[in-house]
Amino acid sequence: MSDSDTPQTAASASEERREFSAEVGRLLDLVVHSLYSDREIFLRELVANAADASDRRRFEALTDADRALPADAKIRIVPDKAARLLTISDDGTGMSRDELVRNLGTIARSGTRAFNQKLSDVKPEDRPSLIGQFGVGFYSAFMVADRVEVVSRRVGEAEAWRWSSEGQGSYTLAPAERDTPGTDIVLHIKSDADDFLEPFRLETIVRKWADHITWPITVQRDGQ
Ligand code: ADP
Ligand code: MG
Repeated sequence: MSDSDTPQTAASASEERREFSAEVGRLLDLVVHSLYSDREIFLRELVANAADASDRRRFEALTDADRALPADAKIRIVPDKAARLLTISDDGTGMSRDELVRNLGTIARSGTRAFNQKLSDVKPEDRPSLIGQFGVGFYSAFMVADRVEVVSRRVGEAEAWRWSSEGQGSYTLAPAERDTPGTDIVLHIKSDADDFLEPFRLETIVRKWADHITWPITVQRDGQ
């Protein structure tokens, strides 16, 4: 892929569309089309990513005090029933434009690559249980969302970027605004996934899957 080699032109100031790598396309196809019964694990994956990014920022701050996390750093889960949006926000490292392309547009991780290869060895009807067992990380968001937006600002950088995709072959990148470093994962919740807009349901999932996370996690109640 020549993704990150694309020269910066005037056009890159606005939205740019890019294709997923073939591996990601295959994985997304599988995730989106699997009638997966344990869809709630998407929240486990997104909260784990938020915690990882917060850990990484704390580590970076050891050698660069300017990168220190705010004293009230936390992971925020904010459902908005009226807008059918669920947002998971963190005060972690955030991602630069290049990191968004690399981390969310290709499969850089050997674990996921192995998983992806394993899928082709497994009968289609057995694939959903494989997803539950291994998790498909960030891409599990597409089990409950028909569009996922990521607004991220890398700590140490002034600019923020918006990554957006419907999980079908391509994604877009555009400049965005974010007051502080960190990441917002904004899920446009599918019409058959209403329950993931209920604070009580979300709290139950967090208790079940994210009990070991050391960062504070808040679930916003309606009207708060
Ligand atoms: P994994 O967590 O196993 O590496 P994921 O698919 O869950 O795989 O995420 C892919 C990558 O995207 C992560 O390794 C990380 O670099 C990046 N990423 C995902 N979510 C965030 C986030 N909230 N903040 C910063 N980086 C993130
Ligand atoms: Mg992950």
